[in-house]
Amino acid sequence: MGKENLPAPGFYVDNDLAQLFSDTIDQLISDMGRNVTLYLPPISSGCPNCLMGFDNSSQGIYNTSNPYGPGPYNKQFPDGGICPVCKGTHEIRTAKTATYKALISRDPRDKEFSAIGKEFERNNIYRTKMQIVAYEDLKIAEKALIDGDMCVPIRDPIRRGLRDLKYVQVWWRKMDK
Ligand SMILES: [Zn+2]
Repeated sequence: MGKENLPAPGFYVDNDLAQLFSDTIDQLISDMGRNVTLYLPPISSGCPNCLMGFDNSSQGIYNTSNPYGPGPYNKQFPDGGICPVCKGTHEIRTAKTATYKALISRDPRDKEFSAIGKEFERNNIYRTKMQIVAYEDLKIAEKALIDGDMCVPIRDPIRRGLRDLKYVQVWWRKMDK
């Protein structure tokens, strides 16, 4: 049989098959996936409760235009005092999280794991697979809560897919308690 009898490149995976593949993974993530919470770098913003001084720190003067009602972001204090909201830094750091559904694999036995996981206890390793929409958050995630375990990423996210990169895979290591 000559080379001319071989199917053209791309023949093996036609559009229907690629579609079936991604539909199947979509369905798996939706049916079998569990929520994973990503811990992203906190957002830093100026304190709404005090006026800013020359060195970007608090001027020690209550901001009478504070847009918040009385509560954690609005606490009056006397001029010259230390702002109780930002403790004088004029910076507010707000924790940021994002939650995505993921196929979670524990103790994976594939070759990929043995390539990267030699120095890790198998039991401490998780692999997650999420829709690509999570990619940007996964790139900056510092930690993740996976099945009740706090984990750190051990590798950059890897985009996956049969034809289109529609999924993102990450390896995680359980943090020491
Ligand atoms: Zn303040």
